[in-house]
Amino acid sequence: MKVPLLDLKPQYQQIKEKIMPEIIEIIETQGFILGPKVDRLEKEMAEYINTPHTLGCSSGTDALLLALMALDIGRGDEVITTPYTFFATAGSIARVGAVARFVDIDPATFLMRVDQIEKAITPKTKAIMPVHLFGQCVDMEPLMAIARKHNLAVIEDAAQAIGARYHNKDAGTFGDAGCFSFFPSKNLGCFGDGGLVSTNRTALYERLKGLRVHGGQVQYQHLEVGLNARIDALQAAVVSVKLPFLKSWTDGRRRNAALYNELFKNNSNVITPIEKPDCYHIYNQYVIRVKNRDSLKAHLGEKEIGCSVYYPLSLHQQKCFASLGYKKGDFPESEKAADTTIALPIYPELSREQIEFVAKTVNDFTA
Ligand SMILES: *Cc1c(COP(=O)(O)O)cnc(C)c1O
Repeated sequence: MKVPLLDLKPQYQQIKEKIMPEIIEIIETQGFILGPKVDRLEKEMAEYINTPHTLGCSSGTDALLLALMALDIGRGDEVITTPYTFFATAGSIARVGAVARFVDIDPATFLMRVDQIEKAITPKTKAIMPVHLFGQCVDMEPLMAIARKHNLAVIEDAAQAIGARYHNKDAGTFGDAGCFSFFPSKNLGCFGDGGLVSTNRTALYERLKGLRVHGGQVQYQHLEVGLNARIDALQAAVVSVKLPFLKSWTDGRRRNAALYNELFKNNSNVITPIEKPDCYHIYNQYVIRVKNRDSLKAHLGEKEIGCSVYYPLSLHQQKCFASLGYKKGDFPESEKAADTTIALPIYPELSREQIEFVAKTVNDFTA
């Protein structure tokens, strides 16, 4: 039995008949840039996550860039974030000329430790960028209290967390801006690159709208230097067609996670992911921890079971961030996670037999 880490083809079969007419319509009308498909997506997404404004953009990375720029974060500023995340989190901070200041993660959830944030605040700190990693929210209530106390902006990296909730409120709706990605491997993916920024601040929304099109909403009138960071109408249409399915796909991921948890229950050599009591986890990734991670990874490869390591090198150890002055040992939990974690197939269309096969293979190897 072959089990890929992710196979999007069965999902496509589900939506094919709905997507093709949308795509043909856009091609027939040649309306590729912004317009009604993008407006519709922004309205639907705002309703879905229950926030006043959303803005479609070219990728999750550009969502982060737009948010940083709209909040005037740049040279000389510091942004507090986690070293255990996808590169774009700290990459976007560096891209605007600011400095990433890391705090270590909670080993049980892989999420940034909110109780470490205040220690990292300096007179230069302008913002906090929590990452709702793997589909579970950071503890946003204490985080927002710290942000308010120190007058810091909050940009949520919700690229992996569409539909995740904390205290019954959606990821990406707590801070000044929430940043989402429609990269195909996210829970709500398009047919290429795409992203979205959410905000509950109208003035910030207007600024973001300008920044998305070279810094001015009126053509050829540039109030500032922005980006070309639009989402394609084609990609917006794909996301709109998929959105009504998202809840059932998330249910499928949660069902698969519960089955894995059950199958690993009696194996003390596999540490399964936890869902915090006040959270709704959407399992963009199902990440376990094992002692002999690299040999398990090789073994799964031989058995044709897809798996991946998110992420094998903490951001404070990346060569491009050497100038930040961090060294090995600075964030021990993040480094330990990089050495011991492995993501297993979790996508909703997996069969029970496939999950059982993956779990048995892991159990036989690690027990
Ligand atoms: C995917 C991802 C991004 C970037 O999104 P892209 O659409 O690939 O640019 C940023 N942060 C995190 C945590 C991600 O997983």
